[in-house]
Amino acid sequence: MDIKQLLRKLPQVDELLRHAKLKDDLERHPRYFLLEAIREALQKTREQILEGRVEDYKEETLIERVRVLLVDGTRPSLRPVINATGVVIHTNLGRSLCSAAATAAVNEIATSYSTLEYDVRSGSRGSRKVHYEKLVRGLTGAEAALAVNNNAAAVMLVLATLARGKEVVVSRGELVEIGGSFRIPDIMRESGATMVEVGTTNKTRLRDYESAITERTALILKVHASNFRVVGFTEEVGVGELAKLGSSHGIPVFEDQGSGVLMDLRTFGLPPEPTIRESIEAGAALVSCSGDKLLGGPQAGIIAGRSELIERLEHHPLARAFRLDKLTIAALEATLKAYVDPEIARSELPTLRMLTATSAEMATQARKLADRIVDACGETAEVDIVEEISRSGGGSLPMADIPTTVVRLLPRTLDVVELERRLRLGDPCVVARIRDDRLLFDPRTLSREDENQVVRLIAENLRG
Ligand SMILES: *Cc1c(COP(=O)(O)O)cnc(C)c1O
Repeated sequence: MDIKQLLRKLPQVDELLRHAKLKDDLERHPRYFLLEAIREALQKTREQILEGRVEDYKEETLIERVRVLLVDGTRPSLRPVINATGVVIHTNLGRSLCSAAATAAVNEIATSYSTLEYDVRSGSRGSRKVHYEKLVRGLTGAEAALAVNNNAAAVMLVLATLARGKEVVVSRGELVEIGGSFRIPDIMRESGATMVEVGTTNKTRLRDYESAITERTALILKVHASNFRVVGFTEEVGVGELAKLGSSHGIPVFEDQGSGVLMDLRTFGLPPEPTIRESIEAGAALVSCSGDKLLGGPQAGIIAGRSELIERLEHHPLARAFRLDKLTIAALEATLKAYVDPEIARSELPTLRMLTATSAEMATQARKLADRIVDACGETAEVDIVEEISRSGGGSLPMADIPTTVVRLLPRTLDVVELERRLRLGDPCVVARIRDDRLLFDPRTLSREDENQVVRLIAENLRG
């Protein structure tokens, strides 16, 4: 058939809407979604015909295409994914998972009226802060705290409030970019502060800061190099020394700590990271961090520090623009509560639980998973286990090699790239890494339920 004939064969939108074969679909879904799917299917088919890629018009093919698009259009776009990569704080897959307690709190607050800004004792207007501030104070030793939408907003708010039209001294070794376009120099410019760079990429000394201080200096900024390390011939100045220097000039030190560490991670065999409490004790006037990196809670930016500074932040118009919503506050409060006991934090918060699972536990879990895949797949795949490295991710603990054991799978009935694609497009979506023609599944980021699904989906795809 030539192009004109093929185009003439395409049915009208209305015809398809009334088509007997799509009757069930119309009953199951609002007409809106079927109409969208039909329009898109017709347009795609038309394009393919015009490109000369269609030999013959088949109604079944078109109907099938409508169905696929309908499934796509009706299922949630934001939906769960099975993370088999072993990257715990996976930026693209939503960073930290909320704990059961945080999830329950979100659910309850989402479906009821709440004490969001209501003081039950006085029966009058209350503050959003009361739900988390006392906890942050207790966990960090800070005088006061404020939480905003994310750490980028926290940094912006601090700079705009304390340093607009003034100068901020920062080491050249700390002018970092954190994934997704958060760059210190850009944030600085947007906040209206002037950045005064000191030192060099690998070495900055106290006297570099000292000689940069003028009467226009409003803040000394220290940024935690979250996602990289400068190694070799390096020197940086600690918060304590900076705080001493600052106080002799009446200038506060603000540390952007990034990951949000509330307890000594060495207790759990992880590399040491400065805690917020340590920075506060060392003399930082303000410290900020993310809520959904190592802290293991919802997306948020937490600022802890001196009460007179926190108060100024609260009164800046940006604080209103960056404020937290009630669902996040609910999740944040529940997450912070887990930290009153490090063991509770470790067992309740998925991020910490996954990061601290031992290599022996991972080896056992990998062996079990491998056995189950062999049972389900038989001869269709070659399966073994091998020692590997899990990553913390999210720009945290960049140098930490967290030993794990992964399941390696070499499909025999399919190309490995095709299997990876099918798992990714499956329901639910499974994200796994390919290495040396094998698909790797790291049990560190898999729940038991995830494993059931992974076994099922692999078997279905290799057999089907
Ligand atoms: C991650 C990070 C940020 C950005 O935090 P978000 O919560 O993603 O906005 C800022 N500074 C540092 C040092 C970070 O590690």
